[in-house]
Amino acid sequence: MSLFSTTEIHVPDSVISYRTEFATGLSCRISPFRGTRGINTGAAPPSYNYEDPTCPFCRSRIFSSTRGFSDGDWITKGESVTFPNLYPFADRHTVTVITEAHMVESFTSDQLSDALIGSAQSLQDYPGYPSIHWNFLPSAGASLLHPHLQGIADRKPASLCKLYLEASARTASGDYWEIVVDEEAGGPRHLFGEEIFWYANPVPIGECEIRGILPIRRIDEFFSLTESLGRDIARIISLYRSFGSYAFNMGIFFQKTCTSGFDGMCAFCTMIARINPNSGSISDSAFMERICREPVVMTLPEDICKKAGL
Ligand SMILES: [Zn+2]
Repeated sequence: MSLFSTTEIHVPDSVISYRTEFATGLSCRISPFRGTRGINTGAAPPSYNYEDPTCPFCRSRIFSSTRGFSDGDWITKGESVTFPNLYPFADRHTVTVITEAHMVESFTSDQLSDALIGSAQSLQDYPGYPSIHWNFLPSAGASLLHPHLQGIADRKPASLCKLYLEASARTASGDYWEIVVDEEAGGPRHLFGEEIFWYANPVPIGECEIRGILPIRRIDEFFSLTESLGRDIARIISLYRSFGSYAFNMGIFFQKTCTSGFDGMCAFCTMIARINPNSGSISDSAFMERICREPVVMTLPEDICKKAGL
């Protein structure tokens, strides 16, 4: 039983694949030939500038340029510092600065795990839908270069989360995620992971989308998993780099906090590769993504294992 439909059309030099995920109606089109244009040539940012005198997140300024929580404190865990977003777009919106350094060449599992803990701590008492996100590099939407997570929580789920809650509600067992794991396990898109099940999403919402299904549902269960997740995220970042992509977006969704019992949501993490920073401000989000709301990607999910040498 496939969880998505595929229609292929042949155009000169190429095959375009249209895919739709049955459970959510999400669709995308995949055009591997576009990947041969060689547009994504931008480089990684330099990693040597320890302090940027204009950066509010650099360590000598972070506690004066940001405000603590209502108790007057910041959440600190390892190198990470978490505080309320001064310019929120969610009922609870926090920022977690991951590293002391303004930019690092690579992230350690511990840096990521500590930052995930800080972000989750800032969201866990909010009675709603929490999620943790990361825009890495300006071409992925980061307004500040200094690596930082954003935690958001609202009474209503974000659109993507809502689609899967509805999908689970329509599933006989009430758990759509179980079906996804059954379908993807051992298949051509199954990547790796023991505790967390990682696979290339067959109907990607962005370039080289990799999803991890976590063996938990609520954010208060997350703390025992951050070590594995930090390690796996570091692995996916290096995998993207081996493909030539430095910028990415990440999201981790949880079920509603304070729901007694199971609401159909399994915690999951998604990562998508983004175009590298480039001098012409060329974007990889254009009319298809922003107006038609149907992403165009260049990598077949079935090719990600091969490309990664897995
Ligand atoms: Zn900085």
